[in-house]
Amino acid sequence: MTITIDPEQRHRFSGPEALIDLSAARHNLDLARAMAPGSKVIAVIKSNAYGHGVLRMAQALEAADAFALARIEEAVRLRQAGVGKQLLTLEGFFNRDELDAASRYQIEPVVSTPQQLSLLQQCRLQHPVCCWLKVDTGMHRLGFSVEQAVAAYHALRRCAAVRPPLRLMTHLACADDLQEQATERQLQRFQPLIDGLGGEVSIANSAALLAWPQTHYHWVRPGIMLYGASPLIGGRGETQGLRPVMTLTSHLIAINQCQRGEAIGYGGSWRCPESMPVGVVAIGYGDGYPRHAPSGTPLLVNGLRVPLVGRVSMDMLTVDLRTQPEASVGDPVVLWGRGLPAEEIAEAAETITYQLFCGVTQRVRFTEQAIG
Ligand SMILES: *Cc1c(COP(=O)(O)O)cnc(C)c1O
Repeated sequence: MTITIDPEQRHRFSGPEALIDLSAARHNLDLARAMAPGSKVIAVIKSNAYGHGVLRMAQALEAADAFALARIEEAVRLRQAGVGKQLLTLEGFFNRDELDAASRYQIEPVVSTPQQLSLLQQCRLQHPVCCWLKVDTGMHRLGFSVEQAVAAYHALRRCAAVRPPLRLMTHLACADDLQEQATERQLQRFQPLIDGLGGEVSIANSAALLAWPQTHYHWVRPGIMLYGASPLIGGRGETQGLRPVMTLTSHLIAINQCQRGEAIGYGGSWRCPESMPVGVVAIGYGDGYPRHAPSGTPLLVNGLRVPLVGRVSMDMLTVDLRTQPEASVGDPVVLWGRGLPAEEIAEAAETITYQLFCGVTQRVRFTEQAIG
């Protein structure tokens, strides 16, 4: 068998690539603003901007009013990279050193535990920090209980280390589920504090921003929607007017003509129902593609859907090419993104788009694009 190599292919990169569409991110931020026109926007860029690259996303989302990270370290890194915007840390600070860093770098911690409160009460800071008081209205993760919150609020107001304004925050556990009663219950529990304490309030994540307008208040905190995925159960970003920021791609690196009954990949878990071409794609769980994506999970080869077959391995996966007998080595493959909603892959793999995005590994080449 003779195979001729197109000279153009000699230097072409064939490994996994995450194309990051910065104009899609800007579009999604505009949409968030349009949906919550009375609110300021805290763009959530924690965990390396949901795997998209925090510096590039901080630049793309420059029109946001503030950025939220999870931890002080993430916020310090942004400051050191020259980002001057208002920065919040959703987990606050873990110790005195981090509190000092918050003060030095003017980072606004969310205060949610008695330990954080007493650290603030005990320390002298050259530059007092601006804080957000987190109230647990029913999620039972972080926050002062509704009963403790009033005392915590006044204690923070009296703290020399804390500079006004002191703002209120809570987080919704079930905003992605439009049928769920828990959201209304959380709002009802929060309401007396909003009325009694006054000041600015932040409740809404992406799901609440899109589906629960009564949660908008002064500050909204969208994350996943800025990256183009729907936060709602069964939802698709596209139907909400969002555009995917990340398109994960790779290429066919081999095509095997397999016989009926032959087993494909580790464990031989999938067998060819007939004589058929099976494509090998250069991407696997070592790049962040979910290992537990089952046979049948869709991919695009040359823009057309084909099903995954067999087990995903570390560096490769295999696809059924029966509907694409013309496909050849070097042809482009899309794992998720433009033309193939990440939500669909997440559902097939029984996970969420957040985890798919965060899981893309260092080995994947990131390329910025601005489309449209
Ligand atoms: C991550 C996070 C958000 C953003 O949530 P999305 O569902 O991605 O919009 C908002 N608020 C808090 C407290 C968070 O931890």
